[in-house]
Amino acid sequence: MRIDIVTIFPTFFDALDLSLLGKAKQSGLIELDVHDLRDSTHDRHRTVDDTPYGGGAGMVMKPEPWGEALDGILGDDTEEEPLVIFPSPAGEVFTQAMARELATEPRLVFGCGRYEGIDHRVFDHTASRARVRLVSLGDYVLNGGEVAVMAMIEAIGRLVPGVVGNPESLVEESHEDGLLEYPSYTKPAEWRGLPVPPVLLSGNHGAIATWRRQQQIERTREVRPDLLPADQPDA
Ligand code: SAM
Repeated sequence: MRIDIVTIFPTFFDALDLSLLGKAKQSGLIELDVHDLRDSTHDRHRTVDDTPYGGGAGMVMKPEPWGEALDGILGDDTEEEPLVIFPSPAGEVFTQAMARELATEPRLVFGCGRYEGIDHRVFDHTASRARVRLVSLGDYVLNGGEVAVMAMIEAIGRLVPGVVGNPESLVEESHEDGLLEYPSYTKPAEWRGLPVPPVLLSGNHGAIATWRRQQQIERTREVRPDLLPADQPDA
């Protein structure tokens, strides 16, 4: 998978050199390029924002630097049509299902907004030559798209085959089967007076599976009842 990111804060993404995604970059499983939007400006102050038409508070990101930056990234594409994702609190909400879908894309481009966002014509123009999605991390407002893109790349990247050593560890996770994950424990069997649930020490795999499933359902009903199908509240 190839990922391009456009941002005015390229060093935000230094953290992607760490841990599993860092290894995936080193091994070539994920090719990642971070582009400084200000490299596509031509004035002395490397200006990327201006006042909004129609008035109002804050600044809006100018279309010209975005157009030039995206020309450079999308222009060389002959084989794979990239999917361009603009993080936005006004977008469709990012989910594990979307992460799974995006992990199959060969080319992703992320455009990180700042200030009051990007001039809307950038989305329209980009959509005339690539697939475009506006994606929200959740129902709250961040200062910029960088944190949202980091979260998306981490969730997507770990689903790219080969990035996580043991693919089975991806299967039994929260949201993979529509439920939250069961609680996990490791040694010692008792810690500060708190024992591990005895069934987990029983060696009875059937009983363990049943207990875990019950825990998933109880946890989901308690914390995220919205995830349970309306016609099957007992999952
Ligand atoms: N004025 C915009 C609005 O109300 O929709 C919010 C702009 S926000 C301060 C600046 C940038 O942060 C956005 O362009 C977007 O890139 C990013 N951002 C903020 N909240 C986000 C969220 N929940 N999900 C994804 N990106 C977000």
